[in-house]
Amino acid sequence: TKKAVLGPLVGAVDQGTSSTRFLVFNSKTAELLSHHQVEIKQEFPREGWVEQDPKEILQSVYECIEKTCEKLGQLNIDISNIKAIGVSNQRETTVVWDKLTGEPLYNAVVWLDLRTQSTVENLSKRIPGNNNFVKSKTGLPLSTYFSAVKLRWLLDNVRKVQKAVEEDRALFGTIDSWLIWSLTGGANGGVHCTDVTNASRTMLFNIHSLEWDKELCEFFEIPMKVLPNVRSSSEIYGLMKAGALEGVPISGCLGDQSAALVGQMCFQDGQAKNTYGTGCFLLCNTGRKCVFSEHGLLTTVAYKLGRDKPVYYALEGSVAIAGAVIRWLRDNLGIIQTSEEIEKLAKEVGTSYGCYFVPAFSGLYAPYWEPSARGIICGLTQFTNKCHIAFAALEAVCFQTREILDAMNRDCGIPLSHLQVDGGMTNNKILMQLQADILYIPVVKPSMPETTALGAAMAAGAAEGVGVWSLEPEDLSAVTMERFEPQINAEESEIRYSTWKKAVMKSMGWVT
Ligand code: ADP
Repeated sequence: TKKAVLGPLVGAVDQGTSSTRFLVFNSKTAELLSHHQVEIKQEFPREGWVEQDPKEILQSVYECIEKTCEKLGQLNIDISNIKAIGVSNQRETTVVWDKLTGEPLYNAVVWLDLRTQSTVENLSKRIPGNNNFVKSKTGLPLSTYFSAVKLRWLLDNVRKVQKAVEEDRALFGTIDSWLIWSLTGGANGGVHCTDVTNASRTMLFNIHSLEWDKELCEFFEIPMKVLPNVRSSSEIYGLMKAGALEGVPISGCLGDQSAALVGQMCFQDGQAKNTYGTGCFLLCNTGRKCVFSEHGLLTTVAYKLGRDKPVYYALEGSVAIAGAVIRWLRDNLGIIQTSEEIEKLAKEVGTSYGCYFVPAFSGLYAPYWEPSARGIICGLTQFTNKCHIAFAALEAVCFQTREILDAMNRDCGIPLSHLQVDGGMTNNKILMQLQADILYIPVVKPSMPETTALGAAMAAGAAEGVGVWSLEPEDLSAVTMERFEPQINAEESEIRYSTWKKAVMKSMGWVT
């Protein structure tokens, strides 16, 4: 049979906390042609610890690429049309590997991991109250969340890591670096790099000068020789060294939340998106200015789409646990078999019946930054059943978003008129309606929810030397929007929200 004729295609790896995907888009219409997805294991070896296997992650990327190429073949689409590959990834998650053998020296320490709580406490004592140089250089509060403290822990506790550093064999990277190094040849000439968005989440990167910061590396006692080269989010880093797409350039790299911002085309100052995955992340483009929050938000690099292009910044509200609470109900309580089933349970009751669920499994991130918080389910009565708890879990995701949206509106001065959303959880219609009700503004969702991958594909396709994607596409007919309008009244919405806040107060101070 004759192969279908198409414009240039671009692939994107979306390596998230829950799963890995590979997706292929038509660069002219942004249409998604084919994809494959594999769920990733999470290990919880101790209370508060979260790890993943870097080799499983790499394997899942190869598997997704191979399967997607097979599916394209079945659609009669020639994979030689794929001109570039972008990478987007879960941010902050920390890997150290041996550059001679290509072997990881420990599991990946996942962003949610809390093992560095005492490291953080000790380091905070050394930051002068009147000169928080960490915050002013990085835009981040000192927290277990970011890579520097995870790397510090590995250097302090893992003999193999210490030895490899002494012998000059250790490389550090977030998942983007680990993947790009491995995909471009690994121990045989792999490129050790990261992009400015991922670098901005390590806590070692100066977001003003866009360089690794010597003072920060000294503060965290990190040897600078293990750090990757920092590049823009859109340029050719290297070529695929194996598999069905051997020889294709990898030319886009963005942390997942930055990728979603690009994929939602939030290129203007004041445009924002909220992504509902394992956690929930609301980013608002602040243009070329670094805006510092007064309300617990982070300042972060949004993107830099080319070596000679300007850097854009964002304010970010990060919520640690969103989709993860659904996975917990599935894996730990077993009240659902699949994440999708949560919708059916919640629909049966249509209310939490006064039950509130604060899923502070990893402490609370924005706007509280409270590591002492732990999860609670409260307001239970004899009447409460699993459907109410399911509903409360969905409501918790919406309330947490409301808290960061309020903070964003205060910091920006101009309230958002609607919320652009994406991510795995946005397939849940009950959640989307609840979100509109709780925010009391419309929630707008693109028909193609894979905006993270789309953003990475756009960056890859637009790179110098690739040039198959225009960032102002002529034809967006493949992109349609679904809108959810608020249906309950504002007063009702406020009452629920204030009870939620009471529950949040009760979740704090569980561990000291
Ligand atoms: P990540 O990028 O963090 O890997 P995804 O965007 O892939 O996350 O979303 C996966 C998360 O969304 C999982 O935690 C899963 O439990 C949750 N999820 C997926 N589908 C639904 C659904 N229909 N309702 C509620 N949660 C869902």
